[in-house]
This record gives sequence, C-alpha cells and structure tokens, in this order.
Amino acid sequence: MIDVSGLEEIRGISINPGYTRIGGLTTWTEVIRTPLPRCFDALKGAAREVGSVQIQNRGTVAGNLCNASPAADGVPPLLALDAEVELVSTSGIRRIVLQDFIVGNRRTLRRPDEVLAGVIVPRRLDEARSAFRKLGARRYLVISIAMVAAIVKTDGAGHVTDARVAVGSCSVTARRLTELERELPGAKAVAGLGALVTEKHLASLSPIDDVRATAEYRRDAALTLVRRALEDCVA
Ligand SMILES: Cc1cc2nc3c(=O)[nH]c(=O)nc-3n(C[C@H](O)[C@H](O)[C@H](O)COP(=O)(O)OP(=O)(O)OC[C@H]3O[C@@H](n4cnc5c(N)ncnc54)[C@H](O)[C@@H]3O)c2cc1C
Repeated sequence: MIDVSGLEEIRGISINPGYTRIGGLTTWTEVIRTPLPRCFDALKGAAREVGSVQIQNRGTVAGNLCNASPAADGVPPLLALDAEVELVSTSGIRRIVLQDFIVGNRRTLRRPDEVLAGVIVPRRLDEARSAFRKLGARRYLVISIAMVAAIVKTDGAGHVTDARVAVGSCSVTARRLTELERELPGAKAVAGLGALVTEKHLASLSPIDDVRATAEYRRDAALTLVRRALEDCVA
C-alpha cells in the first residue's frame, strides 16, 4: 500500500496557455477556493456538494475519478469540460480522455502501478457559463440520485454556439447527452432554453432501481435537472 497524500508535486491548480491543469491530489476545498474561469463553475458547484465540508477538505479530485462511482459528483462537470486524465508510472506518462478512462462501476483503465497525477482541461470554453445541479435525499452527506453539469457558450448576438451536458447517477458511467448538444447551437441563450430538452434527449441513459430511487424517478429527475442547469447557464 502506498500513501500518495504527501506528493505536493501533483497538488494544486495551474492555468497554462492552452489548458488548465488540476493536480490529482487537489482537494475539493482547493477547487472551490481557487479563482478559475467561468466554465469551472459547474465543477465548483459539484465540489460544494461532495459529502460535507470535512470530506471536501480531505477528498481529492483523483480519488473521486479513480473510485469510479456512478454517483461521483466530480465526473459530469469534468466530462462536460472534455477533461483528460494524466497517468504516471515508472514506464512513463499517458493521457486518456475521461470519457474513456471510466469504463464501468468502480472500473477504470488505470493500471495498478499508475498514479493519477492530473486532470487536463483544454481552455477553449473558458468564457462559457456552466452550472451543476444535484438531487439527493437531503442537502449534505448524500449520494446523488441524479446530477447534471451543463456548459453553454454564446456568441455576441446571444445565440448558443456550443453546449455540453453530462448526467451522472443515471447509467453505469456518467454520460454526455450528445444529441441535445448537437441541437442546442443556434438557439437563443435566454430564459426558456431548458424547454428545448425533451425525454428523447435522455434516451441514452439507463438508470436503475435502487434504495435511493426508482429508474423512472431518476429519468424524470434527470430531465428536470438538465432543464434547470441549462436555465442556470443563461440566467
Ligand atoms: C461520508 C462520505 C461522504 C461522501 N460523499 C460524497 C459525495 O457526496 N459525492 C462524491 O462524489 N463522493 C463522496 N464521497 C466519496 C469520496 O470522499 C470522494 O469521492 C473523494 O473525492 C475521494 O477522494 P479521496 O482522495 O478521499 O480518495 P480515496 O477514497 O482515498 O481513494 C479512492 C480510490 O482512488 C484511488 N486513488 C486515490 N488517489 C489516487 C491517485 N492520485 N492516483 C491513483 N489512484 C488514486 C485509491 O487508491 C482508491 O482506490 C463521500 C465519502 C464519504 C466518506
């Protein structure tokens, strides 16, 4: 067993010319406190909802991703940001897009000898607005029934040019709603944007019945959360 928690080299957030780098050992509290471009508001929103303040002080971004829970709150915002993970071992460094890295419930492509050293986010969405919505049975210390991250970029005329929407806790791994993302560009970025979302946009989700909610309830909740997250982005 190796304790990686003292590796200061892979902790903290830096903004570089083409990308923002979040060190794997960055805690959720550090994510919340670091000034970041607006497209990270969804990630900050997720950070505020991870467990409680005590958990946010200790829990790290890498732990959240490597744990690969379908209910990991950090995953949808990072998926929406097109994040990549950087894995380091004595054999070298490799990068994998987050979408491919998490392959199932508690399963990732991380090899046993690899440390998740960082998360790399391209800076092309820096000025886009973003939002995170989580539904749980109570406000804090709760596993998500469903959660959504949305990012909306607009042009000078107030139209959507780019939209990213990711849903967690409603399939074995969090998913981007690619059909919705294809349809939103061109829409007016004003109140009412959420009304463009219909059940068919969530067809790729495969929620399950469990102790927290039925599949039907999850699907319905996810639809509402997607609409609200998009409204947040244009409010
Ligand atoms: C009471 C409680 C409430 C919680 N609530 C939430 C919640 O609301 N939302 C949520 O998403 N999570 C929640 N969690 C889960 C967890 O705390 C967070 O996901 C946290 O971000 C995990 O980070 P960690 O550093 O504690 O990881 P650990 O729990 O220490 O590690 C998780 C896994 O990742 C591996 N790992 C960790 N770091 C690395 C690394 N750098 N490289 C390679 N492998 C690594 C570990 O070996 C382990 O297999 C909760 C946990 C508790 C105890």
